[in-house]
Amino acid sequence: MGDNVRNVIIIGSGPAGYTAGLYTARAMLEPLMFAGYMSGGQLMLTSDIENFPGYPEGIGGPEMMMQLREQSERFGLEVQDRNVEKVDLSTRPFKVWSEGEEYLTDSIIICTGAESIWLGVEGEDEQKGRGISTCATCDGAFFKDEEILVVGGGDSAMEEATFLTRFASKVTLVHRRDVFRASKVMYDRAVAHEKIEIRTFRQVKKWLSDEKGLTGAILEDPRDGSQEEISVTGAFIAIGHTPITGFLEGQLETDNEGYLIHKEHTMTSIPGVFAAGDVVDTRYKQAITAAGLGCQAAIDCERWLEENLH
Ligand code: NAP
Repeated sequence: MGDNVRNVIIIGSGPAGYTAGLYTARAMLEPLMFAGYMSGGQLMLTSDIENFPGYPEGIGGPEMMMQLREQSERFGLEVQDRNVEKVDLSTRPFKVWSEGEEYLTDSIIICTGAESIWLGVEGEDEQKGRGISTCATCDGAFFKDEEILVVGGGDSAMEEATFLTRFASKVTLVHRRDVFRASKVMYDRAVAHEKIEIRTFRQVKKWLSDEKGLTGAILEDPRDGSQEEISVTGAFIAIGHTPITGFLEGQLETDNEGYLIHKEHTMTSIPGVFAAGDVVDTRYKQAITAAGLGCQAAIDCERWLEENLH
């Protein structure tokens, strides 16, 4: 191994990345992390995390990410708050480019996560992480006895709407057409719930708010452009996620939706390249499961380096 070749580069800095950083640092692999410009990932958009074991009072998303960073840096993780533009996985050592600089590494752990897709309509940016969320498991409990709007017609929207009935007094689910991608069982469960009203041919045109937060939305019927106002104090957008894999330029195998695939434990289709967190997780998408996968990827990576290179 040349002096300028790192043992491991971690790309991405959510709970998966920092946990991988903590474990590889404690294994004396001197990991380097490219944390991205928005270090901390999706949890930076969450207000309070109440479902991560060990925090009886809950913890703010950004605060948790700061603590995870501090903890892994204490053991020697080197963090650079930069994005990775591209990688070359065709030869060894692998090449990673950040801000035009080239880095060489024997292994990579990809923890770049997935971005929720937002509607991008007027008034949304101001209410993100406040009245409007993309994660019912994270934020649903903040809307106890309130009226909530859910947007989407797939399994995620059905699941979020059904989950939110635990807290909300009423959940209105709006979908832009009358055909649903959701599986029948999940659609039926939502339709049958007394607190859920499903309204088809409705699209959010604009979010409404006052100084206290979200107050409602203007809904539009895409067939004739007619509009109506709905009053809600919480809204959940469930129109899908996109895994962040653009910088890989198709060098790793993915499923049909673009999520990376594990071939053996947490190893991707290229030996020496591992993946953890929402970039591979189509099912759970929780901070705790991402952290667990980050730990697994770090252990797999350490063993792979031991068996193959060191
Ligand atoms: P999805 O199946 O792709 O559904 C996305 C929904 O959002 C569609 O109804 C789509 O409408 C709507 N949509 C997209 N862009 C929109 C926009 N700009 N404005 C308004 N509506 C918009 O995504 P998903 O529900 O997140 O599910 C993703 C995958 O995960 C699926 O394979 C699903 O089965 C799986 N999943 C499984 C479970 C489970 O089994 N427990 C739970 C969640 C998700 P159109 O139909 O009109 O395009």
